[in-house]
Amino acid sequence: MKLRFWGVRGSHPTGVPPEAIRQKIVSVVNRLSASDLESETSRLKFLTSLPEWLYGTVGGSTPCLEIAIDESRSIIFDAGSGIIPLGNDWFQRKKKSKDIHIFFTHFHYDHIQGFPFFGPAYDPTVTLHFYSPVTNFEQILRNQMQHPYFPITMDNRMTQNMHFNVLTSESIELYGTTINWRKLNHPGGSFGYRVAEGDRVFGYLSDTELLPEDYQASTVNTEFLSGMQTMVLDTPYTLGEAIEKFNWGHSSFTHGVEFAHAWGIEVLFLFHHEPRYDDQRLHLNLQSARWYAKSLGNSKLSIYLSMEGSEFHL
Ligand SMILES: [Zn+2]
Ligand SMILES: [Zn+2]
Repeated sequence: MKLRFWGVRGSHPTGVPPEAIRQKIVSVVNRLSASDLESETSRLKFLTSLPEWLYGTVGGSTPCLEIAIDESRSIIFDAGSGIIPLGNDWFQRKKKSKDIHIFFTHFHYDHIQGFPFFGPAYDPTVTLHFYSPVTNFEQILRNQMQHPYFPITMDNRMTQNMHFNVLTSESIELYGTTINWRKLNHPGGSFGYRVAEGDRVFGYLSDTELLPEDYQASTVNTEFLSGMQTMVLDTPYTLGEAIEKFNWGHSSFTHGVEFAHAWGIEVLFLFHHEPRYDDQRLHLNLQSARWYAKSLGNSKLSIYLSMEGSEFHL
C-alpha cells in the first residue's frame, strides 16, 4: 500500500499569501553565494540544501488521503478540497479503475467541500462507492449540492452510478484490505479508519480530541490500534492551544506524540494543520514534536508533517 497526501490543512483551504511568497524569495536570495550559481549541479545542491519550510510548502488544501493498492486501484479518505487535484490526476492515469471508493470521517465542510469539483464524478462511466457509518449520510452529501449553494445537484450531470454504503458491520474487505472504523471524540462525531493489508496496518484518525481513555489498553482501543505501524493524526494545536480550546475536537501534537508512543506507532504524520500557521511555524512544531518523542525515550517513532503531494510506502 502507498499513502498519498492530497489535502492536509484543517478547517478551511489556506493559500500561501503573496507577501509570504515574496519573503521566501528574499530569504532564498539572501542565502545565495556566487559559487552556488556556477553550474547546474551547484544550483541543485543549493536548492536541496534549503530548509524544507523554505523550499516548497506544506500545502493548503483540506483533508483528502489516498491509499493506492496498486497502479489502478485506490481507496480515498475524505473529500476536502484536496480531492480536486486528486481528480485531475486521476484523468491523467494510464491505468485507472472506474470504481472510485470514498470513505468519510465526518461531514464538516473541510471534509466534503471538494466533492462538487471532483472531476471523475462527472464521468458517466464512473461508479462512485461512498462509505460512512452515519445512517443518513447520502442526504447530508446531497444537501451541499443544491440551490442556492451550488448550481449542480448530484442528480444531474454527475454519474448516476452511486452507491451509498452505510457501515454497519465491524469491518469490510476491499481490494484485499480489511477496513475497520471507530467513533472519535469530535463535535457532531467523527470516525477513524484502520486499513490492514496482511500485517501492514495504517490508521487515519481525523478529526479527534484525544482523551485519557484513548491511552488505555481497553478492548476497543487494542482492537483498533494494536499492530498499527503508521498513523495520520489530527494534531493542529500546541499543548497550550489544546488547553485553551478544550472540547473543540482537535488534539495537540504533544498529545499526539504521547498517543503514538503509548501504542507503539512507528510513523506518525501530523495532520489537519492549523490554517493560521505558516510553513516555518509548522516545521517548528514538527521539531518540537520530535524533541518531545526523544524526551520520552522513544527512538523508534518517526514523525513527519503531512505534506501535500508527498507519498509514503506503508
Ligand atoms: Zn476537519
Ligand atoms: Zn471536523
